[in-house]
Amino acid sequence: MGTDQPRTSAGESIVGAAADLPDDALVLGLDVGGTTIKGEVTDAGGTALAVGTVATPHGPAAFDAMGELGERLLSELPEADRRRVRRAAVVLPGLVDTARSVAVFSSNVGWRDVHVGDRFAERWGVPTLIEHDVAVAGWAEWRYGAGQGYENVCVVILGTGISGTLSVGGRLVRSGYGQVGEYGHVPVRRVGGLPCPCGNTGCVETVASGAAIARAYTRRTGREIGGAAQVFALMSTDPDAAAVVEDAVDALADGLVGIVHAACPELIVLGGGVAGAGAALTEPLHRALSDRLRLVPAPRVVLGEFGARAGLAGAALFARRGALT
Ligand SMILES: [Zn+2]
Repeated sequence: MGTDQPRTSAGESIVGAAADLPDDALVLGLDVGGTTIKGEVTDAGGTALAVGTVATPHGPAAFDAMGELGERLLSELPEADRRRVRRAAVVLPGLVDTARSVAVFSSNVGWRDVHVGDRFAERWGVPTLIEHDVAVAGWAEWRYGAGQGYENVCVVILGTGISGTLSVGGRLVRSGYGQVGEYGHVPVRRVGGLPCPCGNTGCVETVASGAAIARAYTRRTGREIGGAAQVFALMSTDPDAAAVVEDAVDALADGLVGIVHAACPELIVLGGGVAGAGAALTEPLHRALSDRLRLVPAPRVVLGEFGARAGLAGAALFARRGALT
């Protein structure tokens, strides 16, 4: 770490600071989504002392909204508690370059190459880390949620899109080039598949994301449906719904089978909105993987424990630990 790193008045490095905080410390976590920014100040037990949500403005203005929300939450604390806040973490969507502290790209929120730098640390007066939201959510599920105690875990977040994390040998796999865990963009329907927003054809996401499941049901039946959860709910009585889910599970299994061969995870943890389907998803996915695997054992498939809170809970845990270790 260079000597030109920004520092707090206490002399602590703002960008690095990868060490556990003492138990009496509080942390500020922000989870930035496409529609809302959620924030919390929490203690070591995970109890929230201040909570807030604001709408996500489009474009780089979102960073001003993050700064304001953090400031508001800190100002709501009694002075004695305010002094106990020792670190913050902001988890961002899209592509994030943590080494250069740059929010590289978010198609949802509409920013490109925003230099985050020490803007939050200066405004809030505490060291502030930034990270990729899915990396943090997956790490939290692995280390503190459904994957606790396992060394080799694949976390798949199924929502509007599909991505996740991979932990091998007790370490979260990271890459200096691009982002690890873009499971949604493994092509599985190259012939006759649907176009994917990424530019490829027949990606996992075009069949197995929440939006894709709802669209497939409407294409097949001509009937509008509120979302993937309703398709899952109809499965036992509606053969079209069952067929759509089966197709989604097949695509997901096709996409994951290469990762299972490559990394032999003991456990696959499913998070995100679509995972709300529960056993209607985990059991057929485990069967579909078992059908496809000959050499390596089929991993267990379980639901995440943090649900939709994985990003925010993960931000607090990340701020407390100081690193995704
Ligand atoms: Zn794609």
